[in-house]
Amino acid sequence: MVEVKFLGSGNAFCPDGRMHSLVLLDEKILIDTPPTILPQLSQAGLSPCDINTILFTHWHGDHIFGFPFFILERKYISDRAGNNTLNIHLHEGGERKLKELSEIAFPGSLNDVLENRVRFYDSKKGQVTGAPDWVFERFPVNHEPATEPHGYELQHTSGFTIIHCGDSGPCEEIAKRTGDADIVIIEVGVPDGVPTDFHFKPSSLSELAHNNPSTIFLATHLYTTKDEPISGLPENVIQVHDGDVFNCEIGGIITKSN
Ligand SMILES: [Zn+2]
Ligand SMILES: [Zn+2]
Repeated sequence: MVEVKFLGSGNAFCPDGRMHSLVLLDEKILIDTPPTILPQLSQAGLSPCDINTILFTHWHGDHIFGFPFFILERKYISDRAGNNTLNIHLHEGGERKLKELSEIAFPGSLNDVLENRVRFYDSKKGQVTGAPDWVFERFPVNHEPATEPHGYELQHTSGFTIIHCGDSGPCEEIAKRTGDADIVIIEVGVPDGVPTDFHFKPSSLSELAHNNPSTIFLATHLYTTKDEPISGLPENVIQVHDGDVFNCEIGGIITKSN
């Protein structure tokens, strides 16, 4: 059984009742580090030192600006003794970006932790370091190119497959991978009518879900408030809320709680 927990479900603007989109897999793999990561973890009863691994999707502020706070907290509060190594999987060149961001945020304070207690891996696929039950493949998606956008296909030793599409509009990589996945986490950034190809919208998500009827889509990074769901989406699309927990295995979702 795999646990998929949503610590946040909003887009960059945090619509009412939603913090920035943030997913935790099996209590140890985080996908991205949004600005409000510390309260998001504490609301879930977790601390930064509980996290073994972070997978980064791209370099937009709503996905990375919490990183310096996350490292600062580990250094001074939850991992003062330096017992826990943090493993980070990210696109080539990302290590330098995260170190620059940390230096801007807390000059001179985080270098020691970043050098000694964090391991950066830019391989495109392989074992998820710190989570031996999982292998991953990172793939390019369709979003602002300067952010080097990627998604992740993750497979559990049980055979269960989950895809996190990252922040993206429709693209061939997502279209070809979704049919074989049990669960697809998809970020819906904007409503129909907004002139951009870099985000899924209700119409393009509906098309993808209709084309892959046996896959369950968990829609996050939403532009709607928590009490105003998007209407008219297909039955295999679930619009998530902050705090939602899905227990999943091959074939789909076994239980949902919040
Ligand atoms: Zn975003
Ligand atoms: Zn983005």
